[in-house]
Amino acid sequence: MLDKVVIANRGEIALRVLRACKELGIKTVAVHSTADRDLKHVLLADESVCIGEPAAMKSYLNVPRIIAAAEVTGAVAIHPGYGFLSENADFAEQVEQSGFIFIGPKADTIRVMGDKVEAIKAMKKAGVPCVPGSDGPLGEDDAKNIAIAKRIGYPVIIKASGGGGGRGMRVVHAEDELLQSIQMTRAEAGAAFNNDMVYMEKYLENPRHIEVQVLADGQGGAIHLGERDCSMQRRHQKVIEEAPAPGITEEMRKFIGERCCRACLEIDYRGAGTFEFLYENGEFYFIEMNTRIQVEHPVTEMVTGVDLIKEQLRIAAGQPLSFKQDDIKLSGHAMECRINAEDPDTFVPSPGTIERFHPPGGLGIRWDSHIYSGYKVPPHYDSMIGKLITYGENRDVAIARMRNALGELVVDGIKTNPPLHQKILADENFQHGGTNIHYLEKKLGMQ
Ligand code: ADP
Repeated sequence: MLDKVVIANRGEIALRVLRACKELGIKTVAVHSTADRDLKHVLLADESVCIGEPAAMKSYLNVPRIIAAAEVTGAVAIHPGYGFLSENADFAEQVEQSGFIFIGPKADTIRVMGDKVEAIKAMKKAGVPCVPGSDGPLGEDDAKNIAIAKRIGYPVIIKASGGGGGRGMRVVHAEDELLQSIQMTRAEAGAAFNNDMVYMEKYLENPRHIEVQVLADGQGGAIHLGERDCSMQRRHQKVIEEAPAPGITEEMRKFIGERCCRACLEIDYRGAGTFEFLYENGEFYFIEMNTRIQVEHPVTEMVTGVDLIKEQLRIAAGQPLSFKQDDIKLSGHAMECRINAEDPDTFVPSPGTIERFHPPGGLGIRWDSHIYSGYKVPPHYDSMIGKLITYGENRDVAIARMRNALGELVVDGIKTNPPLHQKILADENFQHGGTNIHYLEKKLGMQ
């Protein structure tokens, strides 16, 4: 096993990684900004190193400082968590070149999957279904681009190959908007991502977001752990996630899961990863791969019993997968609500001191969070302060437990979003299951 790991992240995911390391007997090093001295995992880690000022550019994105922290503490590996440097191929490369293990895929794999045109090409080769589209970057030939859109059929969406975080996309409803939209997306992409390559896809009007979790050991082993439904979104940000996805049959799960495994072998994937799909009229369409652990990984853990972070650590230590596909059996239903320090109506962030805190509890309740009474939520980072996860023998039980648990959760001193979650959980269509990615924004009157 690995001897000592640097946790290059903060908040709940840093604590989650720390817990997994402890279970495996791995020593931990917390690296943190000056604003994060009192984070729970910093207090619990074997060692901690302050790597810079609060602004992420000066600390959690400060590659030389993070690598230096690994050097001075004698760590052997670096876990990037999610966000920050987790999908930065240059970081992964520098970590490995400095003689440490990057807990994730190889730098080249991250690079290919971060380029959406390349990623789609690789997926098609592996037999993963993709959105009908331009099959490559759009050139400067206007007539050709008009012809591509005509072949795909309107509406189409112009997307930046290097895009991310829901930015660099433009929907086009008719031919007279096409050329200008391509120009605008290209200009924006060049400025935002330093890469002006754009491509075209059919715009799916009412899809659900369904994603498949995979684990691959880079030694010929690849398994899938079923899917998650993350359709409840606001501004492309997931709000509630669940596993399994309502209405997905065992046959469909096997169909899409096997293709994802084949793709893992094709791209020589190593570690935990997620294939994201749009799902409409019974068909899956690949949109992108996340080459890291995701926020919503716990719902998969609850229905499979597999500790995904421990698997990441084992794979990084060079071990083959501890499970075969046949060992993965889904049981029951899990749901996750992202608890944010924000106004539940206006969504304005609400940092500050948590004066009183009581976590919920009981059968089937999991609370992944770094907060405690007296903890000060800093204003510099993402507003998520915890994840409330419930498990039940079926979806109705998971929902009932979530409503109870949200009712028990007390976070005084700052504003938090449980009222929004309660509103969604009480919604008849949500209770029925299978709402699409536009449902929440429509309900909130945003569309
Ligand atoms: P990002 O990397 O910025 O998250 P994605 O390719 O994952 O970009 O797309 C983000 C979101 O944009 C999707 O979850 C979906 O809501 C919307 N989207 C992307 N492509 C399409 C498409 N072809 N049709 C409809 N919606 C799309």
